[in-house]
Amino acid sequence: MSSSHALRPRPLGLVVMAALATAGLSAPAHATTNTTGTPELPVGFSTAKIDRSVDPRQDFYRFAAGKWLDQAEIPASDADLGGFSMLGHRLDARLLALIQQAAAGGEAAKGTARQQVGDYFRAAMDDARRDALGLEPLKADLAALAEAKATPADLGRLAGLLVDGYSSSPLVNAIAMPDAKDSSTYRLVLLPGSQLLEQDEYALPEHQGLRDRYRAYIGAMFRAVGDTPEAAAAHADRILAIESRNAAAIMSLMDMRDPAKTYNVMTFDEAQAFVPALDLRVFLSTVGIEAPERVQVLDVNALKDLQGLLTDVPADDIKLLLRWFIVASRASELGQPYRGLESEFSRERRGLATAPEAERIVTQQIAMQLYHPLSQLYVEAHFPESTRREITEMVGHIKEEFASRLRANAWLDDDTRTAALEKLAKIDIQVGYPATWVDFTPLDIRPDDHFGNVQRATRFAYLREMSRVGQSVLSDRFAVAGKTTPIAVNSAYNFTTNTIDITAAILEAPFFTVGGDPAANYCSIGGVIGHEITHGFDSLGRQYDAKGNLRNWWTAQADAQFKQRTDVLVDQYSHYEILPGLMHNGAMTVTENTADLGGITLAHAALQRHLARHPEAKAAVEGLSADQRCFVAWTQTWAYKGRPERLRYLVSVDVHAIASVRAVAPLLHLDAFHAAFGTRPGDAMWRAPEKRVVIW
Ligand SMILES: [Zn+2]
Repeated sequence: MSSSHALRPRPLGLVVMAALATAGLSAPAHATTNTTGTPELPVGFSTAKIDRSVDPRQDFYRFAAGKWLDQAEIPASDADLGGFSMLGHRLDARLLALIQQAAAGGEAAKGTARQQVGDYFRAAMDDARRDALGLEPLKADLAALAEAKATPADLGRLAGLLVDGYSSSPLVNAIAMPDAKDSSTYRLVLLPGSQLLEQDEYALPEHQGLRDRYRAYIGAMFRAVGDTPEAAAAHADRILAIESRNAAAIMSLMDMRDPAKTYNVMTFDEAQAFVPALDLRVFLSTVGIEAPERVQVLDVNALKDLQGLLTDVPADDIKLLLRWFIVASRASELGQPYRGLESEFSRERRGLATAPEAERIVTQQIAMQLYHPLSQLYVEAHFPESTRREITEMVGHIKEEFASRLRANAWLDDDTRTAALEKLAKIDIQVGYPATWVDFTPLDIRPDDHFGNVQRATRFAYLREMSRVGQSVLSDRFAVAGKTTPIAVNSAYNFTTNTIDITAAILEAPFFTVGGDPAANYCSIGGVIGHEITHGFDSLGRQYDAKGNLRNWWTAQADAQFKQRTDVLVDQYSHYEILPGLMHNGAMTVTENTADLGGITLAHAALQRHLARHPEAKAAVEGLSADQRCFVAWTQTWAYKGRPERLRYLVSVDVHAIASVRAVAPLLHLDAFHAAFGTRPGDAMWRAPEKRVVIW
């Protein structure tokens, strides 16, 4: 979550996980201001959000959530407002209280969750010490960089130094992932260098304003570190030129989601041959990793282009780029003026009126870096076992519903159906928190060394991941920082393990309310559960089998039938205009849109089973039938407002549709929706039966 505040390079990764939302990019809202963005409306399902002056057949979004939309205001230090950010507000406030308690305690034994969380917070909040240190924490690395030559060994060492101390390098990166074709072992994957902006942001005309601000930011930072104004301005131009070149050379986000394009396994020497100018063995050994015999190269062209970069561009410019990365990746951990410059650029980039408060930034940083220690404190304090039981039971009902629909499915042939049922039966779904926590005890967190804490925690996480190369795959649950930890507002399906983690943090309003209306709970959190389950069968997930291996188990006939249906969704979602002239990318969001359609379909159907067992819940509430409440709840859960900067950013990078589109678009395919509200030909919400897509 903290990556949404600080400008940190995001290493491009293989996609092996489909999450409910791009949690790492979303911005849980302010911990201390009004948490709903409205004067009085609750976060969860409420008939008070309905605007009854609007005809649901003409504008269902306004009908279901109109009162909320009228009142909701995006808080000054937030980029958007919706279910995730409202829940994020409450979560952050709870986490901050736990962190402050831990920091006040002061006597916890070294290596315990309370000691680590408390001391991390105390060091991070010590502005005076950070200011007094100035650039000191970077000195040794900047000196090593200044002395380096442009030899292959030196460039390898520098790339390693960046990965080790600063999370990623702009030249090359390495991660460990389960092998897509043999998901029982981990493989070392070489990734392209990272950039500080997103790929599209270097190229598309709608991001020109951002590029100008980025250039000014680079210049300001170089002046702050002591360069002359002329030199700083020239540096900014050169850095932007090199980063733009690199961004243009790497695979598009769409291609990166295609295993056929990324599964390039070869010997280490073959990979090295693409880039003789940088010694990959030295790169890995600098980070503490032994070079394996075989590696996967995610993006072969990017590695070839790196060779071009290192030979075409003067060595001084490469060193300049690395110098920029060292300063920019950790500016937010330094004292003033560096931290302030970073925060100001981040604020502008996100279109915020005011920067988020320091406590909130640190809370989210602790949630990312000390993810399990803080999760343990959260689960103890806020996650009831009864919720775990109730959701586990709901998961069972939704799985059953999916199985019976697969058995009755009219477009699947028998072979594909059998394989699908086998895969479904093997999906392991866990709720709340893991059976085993990651052992953080060896991590040294000190009360007076913020910069060191950040680097040690980064290294701890990285080495833990990399130590698995060549080992068998651990079923590591709820342990992807910012995505699947118990304190991430999210849920995720992992293709390579065929598992789903539903986090403790998402089991709150608006997704779930203890003792709430079953119609609302089924069509909010139940929709989420259904969404994740169908990910195993969407255009990406269905390339993996029941064991999580990349293997095509679909007949050509089933494949064609599936594609015919998802093509309709691609077309539908491409017609939503997000900002004037800015259209949604139906192709990029198709897997998530398919999952949303599957999610609400399964949730609604599972609700019918629930109602059959509990007929008392069928009664109308304030004139709304159970089906009507189900669809209103779905729409209210996804109702959303975003700043233009946020919307442009999401349209560029997010594989999910914008939440306000998710709020209604999938409903239009459900016969039950049209029946519940009596839509007719000519109504704006009408979608003719032959244009409705039934996938599951
Ligand atoms: Zn998803």
